[in-house]
Amino acid sequence: MPFRDDSAAVKNLRPYSAARLISVTAILISVLVAATAGVLGVSYKEALRQEMVNVRNLSIAFAAQTLSVVQAVDQAMVQAERAFRKSPQNPVIDYFEDARAAQDYIIGIHVFDNDGRPVAHAAPANARVKPGYVLAPAITPGEVPRITISDVEPVTGRGILNIARAIVDAHGKRIGTILAQVDSARFERIYTLVDLGLGGSVTLFHRDGTMLVRGPPFPSGIGRSFAQTPLFTQALPIANRGTLDVISPIDGVRRIYGYDAVSNYPLVIITGVNRDFALDAWYERLWTAVGFLVLVSLILVFLAYRVARDSARQHSLIAQLGASERRAGNSAKYLASILNAVGTPIWVLDGERKLVMANDAFRRFAGCSAEELVGVPEREVLDPATAAEREQRYESVLKRSSASEAIVEIQDGNGEPRSVIQQTSRLPSAEGETQLVSVLTDITERQKAEEHLAYLANFDTLTGLPNQNQFRRVLEEQVAIARERRGCLGTLVLSLERAHEITDLLGHEAGDTALRQIAEILNSLLPRAACVARIKSAEFAMAVHAESGNCCNTLEQFANDLLHRLSEPLTMGGRDFYLGPVIGVSVYPQDGDSAEVLYRRAESARNRGRDDGGDPVHFFSSTTHSDLDQRLTVESQLRRALERNELRIVYQPKVNIRTGQIMGFEALIRWTNALLGEISPVRFIPIAERTGLIIPIGAWVLEQTCSQVQRWATESGAPVKVAVNLSPRQFHQKDLLTLIGDSVRRHGVRPGSLELEITETALMSREQEVDVLMRDIRRLGVELSIDDFGTGYSSLAYLKRFPVQRLKIDAAFVRDLGIDSDSAAIALTIINLAHGLKLSVVAEGVETQEQLEILRNMSCDEFQGYLFSPPVSPGDVLPMLEQNRASLARIE
Ligand code: C2E
Ligand code: CA
Ligand code: CA
Repeated sequence: MPFRDDSAAVKNLRPYSAARLISVTAILISVLVAATAGVLGVSYKEALRQEMVNVRNLSIAFAAQTLSVVQAVDQAMVQAERAFRKSPQNPVIDYFEDARAAQDYIIGIHVFDNDGRPVAHAAPANARVKPGYVLAPAITPGEVPRITISDVEPVTGRGILNIARAIVDAHGKRIGTILAQVDSARFERIYTLVDLGLGGSVTLFHRDGTMLVRGPPFPSGIGRSFAQTPLFTQALPIANRGTLDVISPIDGVRRIYGYDAVSNYPLVIITGVNRDFALDAWYERLWTAVGFLVLVSLILVFLAYRVARDSARQHSLIAQLGASERRAGNSAKYLASILNAVGTPIWVLDGERKLVMANDAFRRFAGCSAEELVGVPEREVLDPATAAEREQRYESVLKRSSASEAIVEIQDGNGEPRSVIQQTSRLPSAEGETQLVSVLTDITERQKAEEHLAYLANFDTLTGLPNQNQFRRVLEEQVAIARERRGCLGTLVLSLERAHEITDLLGHEAGDTALRQIAEILNSLLPRAACVARIKSAEFAMAVHAESGNCCNTLEQFANDLLHRLSEPLTMGGRDFYLGPVIGVSVYPQDGDSAEVLYRRAESARNRGRDDGGDPVHFFSSTTHSDLDQRLTVESQLRRALERNELRIVYQPKVNIRTGQIMGFEALIRWTNALLGEISPVRFIPIAERTGLIIPIGAWVLEQTCSQVQRWATESGAPVKVAVNLSPRQFHQKDLLTLIGDSVRRHGVRPGSLELEITETALMSREQEVDVLMRDIRRLGVELSIDDFGTGYSSLAYLKRFPVQRLKIDAAFVRDLGIDSDSAAIALTIINLAHGLKLSVVAEGVETQEQLEILRNMSCDEFQGYLFSPPVSPGDVLPMLEQNRASLARIE
């Protein structure tokens, strides 16, 4: 299914929870703080270490400076010692000559003898401080120079540094004392050369803890002992050089100290810097970092807030969207369920005619499962046989950019043919490609229903024949056809006046069965009739074409055949029912040229026939009216023809086509009436047939012929063969077999001397009975031939089935031999087929030598016609036979 539903994904989207955001942000900030603290901690230690190194190096430098000053002073003292040793009583001390380096510091040098009396004294001229009275220091030989501070000024804290040592002789015995005095301001100046920042200090201590010099000045401390401070209690006992990080015992300021003991002298330099001041750069970094941290944290908090706010907003938007989609009903799932609820197949094709989407109804119609569909070419799932046809429609839809609607036949998934309306339109898709959407409406059932309705409207359900409606429509068409052909068309209306007797006696079911049988009989006329219809209960109608020249004869013939068929009683429930047929006929063009008029006139002709009670066939037209008048006269005259002895029989010879020998004769009736004159059998035989007069007339002809045959046989001593015509009604008369048998026996007719000519029409119904009858006739030694072959149904199947010896080609074919190649072809075919069935063939109505030649070439067996002889009276038969024999003998 191509429809996707996003609502589940939307549901899964939740806004970030505040707690989660806070904790995430807090963690981020903590990590940041920890990292910064770590970095700062490391850098703090590093800064501290660096500062320690600095103060220590400063201490070393100051110690070195101090040492060089003290050494320079010592140098001056050594010269003074030397001078004392040279003349202990009056030494000349001129140390400034040799120890110039010291003269900036030394303010006086004093030499004492062993008793402590001053021996010599020297001071530089520029000395700022004038020493007062100086006592000889009591120093033991070998002692390191004793260094003390005296004359400390309470305001500045400056004093005089006294450096004393013992003067010894060559044996190491003390011979005097020497004392150098140095202005402490000189040292102070050195110590303040370097800016140690606020709270920074450089202090010179005696090793015993006495403060000697300090820069910046610290007057109250000079000369005091600091022996209990960490420098002296903790640091110096361990190392002469090092660092300290302690709170100053002097001013309470926390300092970092570096210290260094001045080598060879009991002096210690300690340099301190204010710890906070020293770590200023680090603190700066610290504040920068803190500031940065705060900033970053603020940003993080702000971002978290934004994220939380946006997420909440987004979620509410999505929720609103989902809600509005559901309200609008345009979610894919919603649409899919609507499409699937539709019972009509709907599908969408892409540019390559592959399925993009198809609903359940399509799947059911095409008979395929869900997986098979999307991406599958349409021709693979929907009736491939009609795919090319569809493609044409699709292309025209795309070209003309209009929708198409077509009613087509298509096979569904079960292979069932369905009638459908396929509507196809363009569907621009999101990808820019034009797709095609089709909807299929199955109209198969509707069409079937419509066809059934049409059938009900146009056909009679009982008999399956067209009904009155349909007949009128067909009649209209047939009139048009006749008009075009310049032919004529008969409209026949047939009523079975006594058919109701079946229903009356045996009930409706039997009545219906009878009607169905009648319909069957009428249907068998169909090749000759263009249409047969049932109008109402026992009323039928027919349309029959005829050639204009022979119109009345053809129609009369047809009506008579029909009548003949329906004159036979219908056997039902063990009883015979007569149907009482009445036929009305109207003829196009003389009686009218519209179906409406023709039908009405045929009906009125039929009505006249009903009232008349005599002739069951009535023609509408006035010409046939006079015809009818005549026929009525003919009929009434014919009724008395037998009594009046107006009938006679003539005989026409049948001749062997190769030898010319007379093989037999055909008996043909003749009627000469006082009123009507000579009347052709063509006219009166149908009337006799219709009126039933043919039965006594036929019996008379048979009787006459048999007696004649017997007389000729006796007279000539040779049998003469004669054929008698039997009309259909005669043939079906019940006592026919008795009649023939009686005549043959009574006159002693030999087997093979009598032949009966019957037409195809007579053989058409009751085949079983006809078959039995013919075999019985043959058993009497009577031969059978089919007359007028080729004009009726011309079915050779009869010939094979019935015991017939001969067939006679109708004169109509013979007449056209040499003129119409079709007739020749028909004649030849009949001859060949008859020979194939071991039947002999007689050609009728041979009038010319040419016809005879053609027939001979066709191997026809016998012929009959004016060429040889017209029918002759009975008296002429034996002479003719004699003459024939004579002429044949002559030829031989
Ligand atoms: P059909 O049985 O076909 O008889 C042949 C008809 O052709 C006869 O007409 C005959 O005179 C005529 N004919 C013979 N040779 C020629 C010829 O060379 N040219 C032409 N144009 N006609 C020729 P007919 O005698 O007028 O009889 C007409 C029809 O009446 C017969 O046709 C037959 O169907 C019927 N018919 C005649 N006699 C009887 C009869 O005794 N009983 C019955 N039931 N019908 C008969
Ligand atoms: Ca005949
Ligand atoms: Ca004939």
